[in-house]
Amino acid sequence: MNERIFLSSPHMSDEGYEMQYIKEAFDTNWIAPLGENVNEFEKELAEKVGSKAAAALSSGTAAIHLALKAAGVGEGDIVFCPTLTFSATANPIIYQNAIPVFIDSDYQTWNMSPKALESAFEKYPEVKAVIVVHLYGLSADMDKIMEICKKHSVTVIEDAAESLGTYYKGKHTGTFGDYGIFSFNGNKIITTSGGGMLVSENEERVTKVRFWATQSRDHARHYQHSELGFNYRMSNVLAGIGRGQLKVLDRRVKKKKYIYEFYKRELGSLDGVKFMPANDGDDPNYWLSCLTLSGTVRPIDVMEALEKENIESRPIWKPMHIQPFFEKYEFVGCGVSEKLFENGLCLPSDTKMADGDLERVVDVIKGLWMK
Ligand SMILES: *Cc1c(COP(=O)(O)O)cnc(C)c1O
Repeated sequence: MNERIFLSSPHMSDEGYEMQYIKEAFDTNWIAPLGENVNEFEKELAEKVGSKAAAALSSGTAAIHLALKAAGVGEGDIVFCPTLTFSATANPIIYQNAIPVFIDSDYQTWNMSPKALESAFEKYPEVKAVIVVHLYGLSADMDKIMEICKKHSVTVIEDAAESLGTYYKGKHTGTFGDYGIFSFNGNKIITTSGGGMLVSENEERVTKVRFWATQSRDHARHYQHSELGFNYRMSNVLAGIGRGQLKVLDRRVKKKKYIYEFYKRELGSLDGVKFMPANDGDDPNYWLSCLTLSGTVRPIDVMEALEKENIESRPIWKPMHIQPFFEKYEFVGCGVSEKLFENGLCLPSDTKMADGDLERVVDVIKGLWMK
């Protein structure tokens, strides 16, 4: 059997940067709780994305949860959320006993449709916060979305879990809204095996997030708590992996772009194939190379043919408003996200792939058009 090709899997630096930082933590016995790697990882990431402050957390999901809390979202509050995303964008809304309203995508970006967002504001002017996602590492239409959100003076949380290394008009995704979050889960462009980060220009709020994330311990000799706490901090060992990975982020983005361009060149002219379009001003990290199919070859045909050759691929996210758990919530839109789900597909975009691996993938796919 051929060696398996993954969608997107961990890729440590050739230089072994990650181990150096981990070793320092071990040598000083600072493997937990916090320590230099955590502090430095926060600083280095904030600097990389151009944000004032950052809090290293146990996951991207935890970061979204505490961003919602920092935004004052609580019981019964409405939060707008893109429907075409991973469930981790929406789950924390429920953790806060708030109510999601799902917003459709547009075909130009596959991300939140500014038009649907405007209709949602007309229907629910009392909305407390808006979550924007940059899907598969391609940015949402931030000019239009921020203009609408500013007009309504609403808090914006950017779920940039998939878009570390993605810039929109020269500004890093995750820094347009009041809060931005990143994920270092195993399949993301860089990983700490598991982890997340919250960034904001508001240092006081970030300090508060760190407080909540360490069980909300008041300043007192005994254990004193005047607020609900969470155990959401990143460990000093994992932050060491993150510091090493951050050093190779630019290299990973370059490789992801190479993969995307390889596929586009080889598959872009096949009948019915359309790659996920980049927005004007978008400089994506191309986390996953995604496309839609409108001809006789269906996504399932491609996925099955690839699986036979031991190659991993995936459908596009199934929209939240048609998920059994979330379908009871409101949806504003007109079926774009469902169409993308029906016709869309993510190709293997693992940065460890060599040209020979990419050729293996495109040969299988091209074969389906020659039948
Ligand atoms: C991965 C991901 C998350 C969650 O991040 P975790 O670190 O796995 O909790 C949230 N939103 C999106 C869009 C993601 O892809």
